[in-house]
Amino acid sequence: MKKKIEVGVLGATGMVGQSFVKFLEGHPWFELTWVGASDRSAGKKYAEATSWRLDGSMPERIAGLTVTDCKPGKSAPKLVFSAMDASVATEIEREFAQAGHFVVSNSKNHRMEEDVPLLVPEINPDHLRLLAAQKKRGWKGAIATNPNCSTVALTMGLAPMKPFGIEKIIATTMQAISGAGYPGVPSMDIMGNVIPFIGGEEGKMEIETQKIMGEFAGDHIEPLPAKMSAHCNRVPVVDGHMVTVSVALREKVTLKDLLHAYETYTSVPQKKKLPSAPGKPVLYMHEENRPQPRRDAGRENGMSVTVGRLRHCPVLDYKFVCLSHNTIRGAAGAAVLNAELMYSDGLLD
Ligand code: NAP
Repeated sequence: MKKKIEVGVLGATGMVGQSFVKFLEGHPWFELTWVGASDRSAGKKYAEATSWRLDGSMPERIAGLTVTDCKPGKSAPKLVFSAMDASVATEIEREFAQAGHFVVSNSKNHRMEEDVPLLVPEINPDHLRLLAAQKKRGWKGAIATNPNCSTVALTMGLAPMKPFGIEKIIATTMQAISGAGYPGVPSMDIMGNVIPFIGGEEGKMEIETQKIMGEFAGDHIEPLPAKMSAHCNRVPVVDGHMVTVSVALREKVTLKDLLHAYETYTSVPQKKKLPSAPGKPVLYMHEENRPQPRRDAGRENGMSVTVGRLRHCPVLDYKFVCLSHNTIRGAAGAAVLNAELMYSDGLLD
């Protein structure tokens, strides 16, 4: 049993910030005591500054907290989660890390910096060793990040295949509207429709996948040397990003052996029994028409990635479908799991 530590959320009033507030409620290791946002909200009670847009009501204890502006220093806890607007996250997250805070960020701003871990705890827990390289910046704290929401689904779906040598990936997404924040895509555009463009998403998915599945090399990550092509589409689904994937593998492997790899896949967060780790991080579904966003995105508290329809691909070697909850496993839940791994490794001391 770990001692509870105080944590804060930068950008706590926004959509992702609210997901953090909800996800951290009742957390056994982390106690949310500090909420930060812009000058517009600072000084107000959280309930006053926030238009609560999630299911269920705002946690009562948090409703009464006073929102602070996002300045590092005495009042903010050592561990802060970041859900800030991307236009301000670069500088503010840096200032917090410099001042000795550990920033576990959901924003895209620092993900691709050479000494910043882009973590999926099941796949690359050793990438946390990059935090030591951040000391060269003169920071007393550090920044760790989680991937873009669609990349989490893809990389977790690929994880059991990694030992067989991934050489080529073609991934096509069907992404939920909640991934675009609030108010997001106008209803007139998305109802009964599919939008075959999400700004910046395909490039992010390609380079983030290569970094996440790459190898730790001292002060940087050697990217996975796989060719990757992403097609990203917005579809009229509320929660849950689905990805159909074709993969070429270096090793010859039978479908039976590959299925076994999926069914038995487990990793560090499960062995360490981290509080937010799903029992089955990759849940293989044998039904021919699963997974489906409405039915499966919420499995294991939204932290399990569901996979199905693994079969031969006539163009590459194998193909399958995977799905994850974009605002939980793809955002707040991912960052909290990252922080749990850091805490259990003694990296927040
Ligand atoms: P959002 O609803 O617009 O919230 C933005 C938050 O940033 C608010 O708390 C806002 O505070 C705060 N903020 C704005 N300007 C600030 C400043 N100058 N100083 C300090 N705080 C400031 O955005 P969101 O949809 O939650 O997204 C937040 C981040 O997560 C973005 O970087 C986004 O790309 C990323 N992301 C979003 C999703 C998603 O599903 N929406 C998924 C993955 C990643 P005020 O309320 O005071 O303005």
